Amino acid sequence: MKKGITTSTAEKKETPEGLWSKCPECGYICTMTELRENLFVCPKCNHHHRIGSAEYFEILFDDNKYEVLFENIRSKDQLHFTDLKNYGKRLEEIWAKTDITDSIRIGKGNLKGIPFMVGCMDFEFIGGSLGSVMGERIARAIDVCIKERIPLMIICKSGGARMMESAYSLMQLAKVSGKLSQLTDAKIPYISLQTDPSFGGISASFGMLGDLNIAEPGALIGFAGPRVIKETIKKDLPEGFQRSEFLLEHGFLDFIVPRKEMKEKLATVLSLFKN
Ligand SMILES: [Zn+2]
Repeated sequence: MKKGITTSTAEKKETPEGLWSKCPECGYICTMTELRENLFVCPKCNHHHRIGSAEYFEILFDDNKYEVLFENIRSKDQLHFTDLKNYGKRLEEIWAKTDITDSIRIGKGNLKGIPFMVGCMDFEFIGGSLGSVMGERIARAIDVCIKERIPLMIICKSGGARMMESAYSLMQLAKVSGKLSQLTDAKIPYISLQTDPSFGGISASFGMLGDLNIAEPGALIGFAGPRVIKETIKKDLPEGFQRSEFLLEHGFLDFIVPRKEMKEKLATVLSLFKN
């Protein structure tokens, strides 16, 4: 507003040609346009860059057409929590800066003609943390899934609970798990897709409750971070610890799917469930 820029973030489609991106894994430098065309996967080393809900929706939904639900549900500073700054003020600042209204967006659309509900976390909104709003949006999405018989996928990208909401945040674990069991009773599939990073309360509850628990390659998935674990067990951690490949090998995941094969694979899985 200060600089007179009035285009909202959602309307900013084209990335300027001059922008470059460096791969954090191998150092390969390419233009943002090239990276975008490659679905934000490094063309050289296959590193999956972190992306937000808008990008995932564009990858998954047919013709990038979808309806965003429950945007009117907003976070509140119920506990008057202050850390480095006041929680209410923190929320105001983020809302002013971005069009993302909370740490999860619910999109309803079609994937290869199959109606599909996707809840996708946005890491840029307080680390994709689980607050009351995320819990409530997922709960309401599940109600729609049951009513209209639509399969659900949640794309996890989160550091865990939102500390500013304390117990209210933790309650969402039970609430969402409870709602998911209603979905199970209705015999509607739920897929949990874990991306980099999926940590804390989410990976300890609904992140691992999928009929299918799947992940992107190289994603960090766990409960506590490696430093905390190392200090607790006083042992060095094995190579590749908490990466999706390690978790697959140890039976925590059903399969790993590269971003470029995601849509195809999900369409196959959904039609198998349906039939
Ligand atoms: Zn790379």
